[in-house]
Amino acid sequence: MTSDHSLLRLLHLCCLSLQLIALIGASDDSSPTSIISRFQQYLRINTAHPTPSYYEAADFIISQAKSLSLDHQTIEFRKNKPLILLKWPGKNPYLPYILLNSHTDVVPVETNKWAHPPFDAHIDSSGNIYARGTQDMKSVGLQYLEAIRKLQKFGFEPTRTVYLSFVPDEEIGGHDGAGMFAESDVFEKMNVGIVLDEGLASPDENYRVFYAERSPWWLVIKARGAPGHGAKLYDNTAMENLLKSIENIRRFRASQFDMVKAGLRVEGDVISVNMVFLKAGTPSPTGFVMNLQPSETEAGFDIRVPPTYNEEFLEKKIAEEWAPAARNMTFEFKQKVPVFDKWGKPVLTAANNSNPWWVLLAEAVQKADGKLGKPEIFPAATDARSFRQLGFPAIGFSPMANTPILLHDHNEFLNQAEYLKGVDIYVSIIKAYASYEGQADDSASKDEL
Ligand SMILES: [Zn+2]
Repeated sequence: MTSDHSLLRLLHLCCLSLQLIALIGASDDSSPTSIISRFQQYLRINTAHPTPSYYEAADFIISQAKSLSLDHQTIEFRKNKPLILLKWPGKNPYLPYILLNSHTDVVPVETNKWAHPPFDAHIDSSGNIYARGTQDMKSVGLQYLEAIRKLQKFGFEPTRTVYLSFVPDEEIGGHDGAGMFAESDVFEKMNVGIVLDEGLASPDENYRVFYAERSPWWLVIKARGAPGHGAKLYDNTAMENLLKSIENIRRFRASQFDMVKAGLRVEGDVISVNMVFLKAGTPSPTGFVMNLQPSETEAGFDIRVPPTYNEEFLEKKIAEEWAPAARNMTFEFKQKVPVFDKWGKPVLTAANNSNPWWVLLAEAVQKADGKLGKPEIFPAATDARSFRQLGFPAIGFSPMANTPILLHDHNEFLNQAEYLKGVDIYVSIIKAYASYEGQADDSASKDEL
């Protein structure tokens, strides 16, 4: 009987250790297959507007945080729009923290235009993973976590505290996500020294990196003139007044675009102007009245202004050439994000040796065998703006080289080898950032010390 008992005990112990091994295996699994499978899980959660499954995404992120023993909290600055904040505490709480930001939402899809269903995360024979969010930006959010998983496996302990924010609503302006977060007490108490946020895919071997972005100015111009018979030739009609402006704006657009075409400037360095609507004519039951010249016309433009431009120059141009009162014209901005911050400085993060975070990032990418292109101005808007406007340095970076730019496009994909390489790039960056003991010019940390 005794020997039977011992055998049972032994069996029991064996079972326990097997369970333990299984548990350790589950929480410490950095095999490429597991990394890709977790990415697929995240991609399969449909967080597309207008009805993003934010809570499902939150549950998934929290489950990942638990597997890495990271602190987690869910904050709703706006009801039903959870922001997940994770914390990997560092040994020195007095050093300013690192914030790794990503958004959980994605843009809508036209499912019938996709070769593979956009929320299946199908992997084709070349290893390309197809799903909405593969590039923008579920990849980055999960790569941060996978990098931490690897660093923990190596036994790395951060000196600086690392925060990760998974924010909602970036794709619809970010006001209820990163916008409210950056303005919140929670953020103020975090003592952030540097923010990393999204970049863009790069079709060549060099990763793209962004230190600023263009400010959106949404301009509506209106022209007025005396109405008249469609057959009559007379000056100052609303149509004529508006068309003169459109011609002027088109010439300006061409001059900016020519610099890009000639290779003198990259897209983010020029002012882009695109006409987005044109409203004119007098409606009739069958279309428009054909023998009447209307008394009012209107056009809308999406303008993007780099922080390197003097905004007064453009304001003057709009008032004097694009919508001059002398031609019976008026204008208004539907949105006008200032090019300068409240201290009157252009909203940008130094991308040179004066910024230690920039230097560390460039070195870390190189150490992980990555190549970095010249720093650029992001052509559109991202959440990074919310942090930069308050004076925090923020760098936009998504490690996707040799990848066509497919954000917001049909058949968005990322190759799994490129994704795995990106994880290693973040291992290198997070290690460098979390080990950095310099104070730089962080006034916040000086106050604390
Ligand atoms: Zn994005």
